[in-house]
Amino acid sequence: MKLTGHGGKEVVERILPGGMAGSIISDMPELEVDTQTAHECIDIGYGFLSPLDGFMGSEEVDSVCEEMSLPDGTLWSIPITLEANDDTIRKKGFREGDEILLTYHRKPLAIMKTGEVFQLDADRVAGKIYGTSDPKHPGVRRTVSRKGKSISGKVILVGEPEFQPPFDRFWLTPRNHFSLYRDKGWEHVVAHQTRNVPHTAHEWPMKYCWFAANEDLSVEVPHTGVLVNAVIGEKRNGDYIDEAIILGQAELANAGYFRKDTFAVSFTLWDMRYAGPREAVHHAIMRTNLGCTHHMFGRDHAGVGDFYKPYDAHSLLKQVREQLNIKPVFMMENWFCPICSEVTSSGLCDHAATAQNFSGTLLRSMLIDGVQPTRQVMRPEVFQTVQAASDTYGFGSPFVTDSYLQNRGNVFKLADPRKEVSP
Ligand SMILES: [Zn+2]
Repeated sequence: MKLTGHGGKEVVERILPGGMAGSIISDMPELEVDTQTAHECIDIGYGFLSPLDGFMGSEEVDSVCEEMSLPDGTLWSIPITLEANDDTIRKKGFREGDEILLTYHRKPLAIMKTGEVFQLDADRVAGKIYGTSDPKHPGVRRTVSRKGKSISGKVILVGEPEFQPPFDRFWLTPRNHFSLYRDKGWEHVVAHQTRNVPHTAHEWPMKYCWFAANEDLSVEVPHTGVLVNAVIGEKRNGDYIDEAIILGQAELANAGYFRKDTFAVSFTLWDMRYAGPREAVHHAIMRTNLGCTHHMFGRDHAGVGDFYKPYDAHSLLKQVREQLNIKPVFMMENWFCPICSEVTSSGLCDHAATAQNFSGTLLRSMLIDGVQPTRQVMRPEVFQTVQAASDTYGFGSPFVTDSYLQNRGNVFKLADPRKEVSP
């Protein structure tokens, strides 16, 4: 099966065949990478970031910053770079053409054929990508904090990461996504990007989008699915824990709020940049590589604080519409209206004065205290699942705490193929 992804290009896996890695990598110089780079190696290896086959060099970064495209003209909005500190590079003496072994937690992750070693102008990149160099912006902080030099190069995974419970049940590669749609008979798939446990003001927009994405397909049997694709990456205090997000979303189908033949949950390893419009374009690109035909974009998609206007992301997506192989579905703000007695859209309901936007602090404090919200706000089954995930994975909280950051279980583990080589 040929998988067509972003830019109309084939999604290709870059993974060494099983059993080959042990002898190839045993003498390679090593470079330990951080979590963001490990995630992006895995993304490149499976094709989540297709057509990228490695980390960007200076020409690509310039092109992404200035033209919002790769040098060949393919739309691309966020630089994907690997940084290493100057001392390490000097000590190891990496040169162009060298093959180096990228390790994560000291386990072999990927082989990179070294291209260019260059100095990234992080302030300039931040200004272009985030539209601000304000250090209060978490994406700016992320970009500027990655000190040292950047190393470009093509990447090939040395093995497949082993996802740990409960993530193992939701791990789908791009290839697996395409197979899933074929098995379910989906011709259209609308992606829902999330970092949240679902309350009903998340659930209803997914349902609206399911109608929107079905377009003119017949409705006798389902031809359209909703794919909830969570992003799993660096966590900050106060975020929902990953386990509660993914299990809470899956519960929507377990409890029947979505039929199992119209709904699926998976995740992508990605460290949020909170780059608003440019990140919205990036999400569209990643979900194209998962075979999605439509992508929902709500109010202030991938934004943070008040750095972006509520519909800036929609405006940019409209500008690049012709270069996308996925159709954006734009949503307004949703709220629960006590007069309409339902979750509705700010574009429909004319009771703005009494509308309740319950995504804020009240719901958070209820979840922390274990107080069950009304079913109009959060489905009881979702609430129970989130409480169970708090106990099992969250050290008693559905939100990220210091205990969680220090002691949480691994999302994935890497095998060490060097151990399989007989001494
Ligand atoms: Zn109303």
